[in-house]
Amino acid sequence: MRNRLILSLALGTLISSASCSAAAKFSGASAFEFTKKAVDFGPRPPGSEANRRLQEFILQQLKMDKCQIIEDAFTAQTPRGSIAMRNIIALFPGKASGKGKAIAITGHFDTKLFPGRHFVGASDGGSSTGFLLEMARVLAGQPRTDDVYLVFFDGEEAIREDWAGDDNLYGSRHIAERWRKDGTLARLKGLINVDMIGDKNLDLMEEMNGNAPLRKLVWDTAAELSYGSYFIHQQLGEDDDHMPFVRMGAPAIDLIDIDYPYWHKDEDTMDKLSAHSLEVVGLVVQEVIGRLERQ
Ligand SMILES: [Zn+2]
Repeated sequence: MRNRLILSLALGTLISSASCSAAAKFSGASAFEFTKKAVDFGPRPPGSEANRRLQEFILQQLKMDKCQIIEDAFTAQTPRGSIAMRNIIALFPGKASGKGKAIAITGHFDTKLFPGRHFVGASDGGSSTGFLLEMARVLAGQPRTDDVYLVFFDGEEAIREDWAGDDNLYGSRHIAERWRKDGTLARLKGLINVDMIGDKNLDLMEEMNGNAPLRKLVWDTAAELSYGSYFIHQQLGEDDDHMPFVRMGAPAIDLIDIDYPYWHKDEDTMDKLSAHSLEVVGLVVQEVIGRLERQ
């Protein structure tokens, strides 16, 4: 009797997890847990042991998400010499993979180098990593119309203290160039970059360097999902990982909470973040992916 009960419980779990995967929804709690795991590696500047260990963790997670994994390793020339960097791409193939249209959701996993400090970048580097890992979990095993790329950028941050010249956006510049050459850039319907989206007090401003129609689609979708209060109508211009793609003419935007009070401070820790903020951005972006695919 006891055995039969266990069997039926197990069957019930199987059935509910199967129906769950048919309509998997982005979970803020899960994204928060992924973010915490990334932050637990400590400061993660490019070339560091913690950065490499986080890469391994990302790869391990993605292997469970039924996607194609592309590792984009390169050597960056920085003001502190050559640094080995690696972007990680998860591809969820569409109907005509490699030929049809494509959508990209991107963010960085490195944290800014502050020698002698303990900067763990919970929102700045952590939240984008946790967000992408949760998005990969949600997209796993779902039928796709378009190719959906999730890209984890290394080397977003400047290696020197200030943000000068080419000392920034190493990973995104490398992918933009790679995608220009292999034709992926021309297939892009939209690229949405997320950065510092974990703040408990979430307010995303309209970044005006990015593509206007795509930004409008995101803001309209947020309003329709009753999340309009987090996507505010205040404008800013920001140089971030979307810009190498914008400069090459691709429809790219940046979702960033720029007035995060702990930006580049050692106090950028998990207690400043909320699962709800991650969930708001996740549900909006998930809906936008679907709408882009139907266009
Ligand atoms: Zn930063």
